[in-house]
Amino acid sequence: MTSLELQRTNLPEGLEELLGPKGLLTGEEAREYGRDFMGEVDNAPLAVLRPETTEQVAEALRLCTEHGLSVIPQGGRTGLTGAGVPSRPDHEVILCLARMNKVRWLDEKNHAMAVDAGCILADVQKAAADANRLFPLSYGAEGSCQIGGSISTNAGGTAVLRYGNTRDLILGLEVVLADGTVLDMMRALRKDNTGIDLKQLFIGSEGILGVVTGAVLKLYPAVAERECALLAFPSLPAVMKSFAIARESTNDRLSAFEMMPQNGITLACNRVPDVVDPVEGDYPWYALLEVSASKEGSGLFEMLEGLIERLMEEGLVVDGTVSSNEGQRAQLWRIREALVEAHNDMPHLLKHDVSVPISDMADFIETAIEKVQAIAPDAMLIAFGHVGDGNVHFNICHDLDTPDGSLATRHKEVTWAVYDLVQEYRGSFSAEHGVGSMKRDALRRYRSEAELAVMEKLKTALDPQGLLNPGKVI
Ligand SMILES: Cc1cc2nc3c(=O)[nH]c(=O)nc-3n(C[C@H](O)[C@H](O)[C@H](O)COP(=O)(O)OP(=O)(O)OC[C@H]3O[C@@H](n4cnc5c(N)ncnc54)[C@H](O)[C@@H]3O)c2cc1C
Repeated sequence: MTSLELQRTNLPEGLEELLGPKGLLTGEEAREYGRDFMGEVDNAPLAVLRPETTEQVAEALRLCTEHGLSVIPQGGRTGLTGAGVPSRPDHEVILCLARMNKVRWLDEKNHAMAVDAGCILADVQKAAADANRLFPLSYGAEGSCQIGGSISTNAGGTAVLRYGNTRDLILGLEVVLADGTVLDMMRALRKDNTGIDLKQLFIGSEGILGVVTGAVLKLYPAVAERECALLAFPSLPAVMKSFAIARESTNDRLSAFEMMPQNGITLACNRVPDVVDPVEGDYPWYALLEVSASKEGSGLFEMLEGLIERLMEEGLVVDGTVSSNEGQRAQLWRIREALVEAHNDMPHLLKHDVSVPISDMADFIETAIEKVQAIAPDAMLIAFGHVGDGNVHFNICHDLDTPDGSLATRHKEVTWAVYDLVQEYRGSFSAEHGVGSMKRDALRRYRSEAELAVMEKLKTALDPQGLLNPGKVI
């Protein structure tokens, strides 16, 4: 018997008939689905199931549960904690939602749209824009990640400041439980206080409680006008003070405030083609700030100019540039994206996606830098991100010119030092990316026994055999 035949005989009977030839992949065709985005986890699945309908998802889950087979729900495989791929080779099947990619309906008057979970996020944004509406969720992976994956990781991104995390953008959900039960909660209501809000259990729980097959999304009026600036700051407290002033003085028009360090911008300019720093001097910190409105002629430019003038007068901002057209705006945002690309392949990269209360942000970053430098003096620190949400990507790597150094052997020590400090501020060791298979130790270290016990009870209640995404989160 060939290994392909062996794989197929390990699958429940009826699966092939249910899903058809395009809906069931094994062997080499299935192989790539076992690799995560960063190439850190690579485990071959037994098979990849690619259903086209909620009914097929339900029947496939029922068959797998009857067979005692573990199932990994998978979206666009852009997750950063190893949560969407098998945790051991040749034992688990992947349930990939990619073929469930239709917009079910869009109701402009109700500012809502219903989509299949496998829709790519950028396609959802476009469908909303075509109806003169905004679906504000936006982040670097939007061309590949699926709305089901965004929901299951409760993704944040660049517009949280104004519109909230994915959780805040979900009106209704359709979920299939491990035993095949379909929970139809596809209501397009902004108010619905009818008992426990079950959909919240599935948002951000990384596919361990159920498979999301559809969602009703909250839409906003389309953005008609926006202004963007890149500002340079003399210090971290100046960045955070400027954020507070910007927030208070822009009449809720502030839609992004992304902090970047000077070393990150230099790396982006040196390592990513076509990225140029438009600010002439060298300053320790920068922020990309955007204001937007749903109506043209809202005086945004004057508002931004007035804000920058005030920040300069107070000595908080030392230099900067304002984009005067869409092309320039895109170039400014390109710096923010390129900053991530530029250090993704640096040696010994340690990523820490953490959050603390906004009021403690400057203090936290400064103390964390000191702590890391004490352990790994030659490490390069790149702290950047959505600081307006109290979220910083506190990434640490080796400079390319440093042959090898303290970071190489002290990964764990550095990470625990950062996380322990986060805990002192009552922050979160995973602000955006979730727990997956990579941060389970941290969950056990920083969440109380009572919290962990409730998580485990929920898991047992909804998936008594522990077949959905085993080895992840708890
Ligand atoms: C370049 C880049 C930039 C990023 N920027 C941000 C950012 O700014 N903010 C942020 O929050 N995150 C960011 N992320 C990480 C983010 O968590 C993922 O991109 C995304 O949310 C995962 O979506 P996906 O469809 O790729 O899911 P996958 O990676 O396939 O899966 C992720 C998790 O969701 C589960 N899952 C997927 N689909 C379903 C479903 N239908 N039902 C149940 N469970 C499901 C999986 O089992 C897994 O646990 C970024 C990632 C990259 C690569």
